[in-house]
Amino acid sequence: MARYTGSVCRICRRENLKLFLKGDRCYSDKCAFDRRGYPPGQHGQRRGRKISDYGIQLREKQKVKRMYGLSEKQFHLFFERADNQKGITGTNLLVFLERRLDNVVYRLGFVNSRAQGRHFVRHNHFLINGKKVNIPSYLIKTGDVVEIREKSRKIQALEGALDAVVRRGIPQWLDLEKENMKGMVKEFPSREDITTPIQEQLIVELYSK
Ligand code: SF4
Repeated sequence: MARYTGSVCRICRRENLKLFLKGDRCYSDKCAFDRRGYPPGQHGQRRGRKISDYGIQLREKQKVKRMYGLSEKQFHLFFERADNQKGITGTNLLVFLERRLDNVVYRLGFVNSRAQGRHFVRHNHFLINGKKVNIPSYLIKTGDVVEIREKSRKIQALEGALDAVVRRGIPQWLDLEKENMKGMVKEFPSREDITTPIQEQLIVELYSK
């Protein structure tokens, strides 16, 4: 299926949650969700709509998929990997998603959003353990060092994002050396590290039908 190219703010309104897809704008008074926190479309403000169990599960899956900017196929592949691993499938899925390189550069504050992370990763602006990696879905490992390439350090968007990271903070599983534009993966994230309200069990139920 083709990638969604419409307004990303519509996604937040559709999923009834701020997904922080637009960087700085999400923290400003221009945030569309803060201004119009009801679903988009002609019937968005209609009250009392009953949603089936399937509908609830589907919305939860769509929310997480869109938050990480994945296609259905990519998301389902992560689910299958999570399901084949030992442990709790829902937790495994979220940990896999967090380990993606486009997410890690976002969490470290090198970029303002995961979409921007994907763009800069594809354009070779990051090194992992000193080597160029341009695959957004690359899964980081414990001990990996992720840094902005020397040549790219003067790019305004990257510098600006690092200045703004204080607003959202660095998760405890990562370590940031801001002055060296370098981050280290201390450990894999735990379920508690993922603070966005997600009910991953609903996704497991949806795919188990
Ligand atoms: Fe979502 Fe950000 Fe748009 Fe607000 S500004 S609706 S948080 S993408």
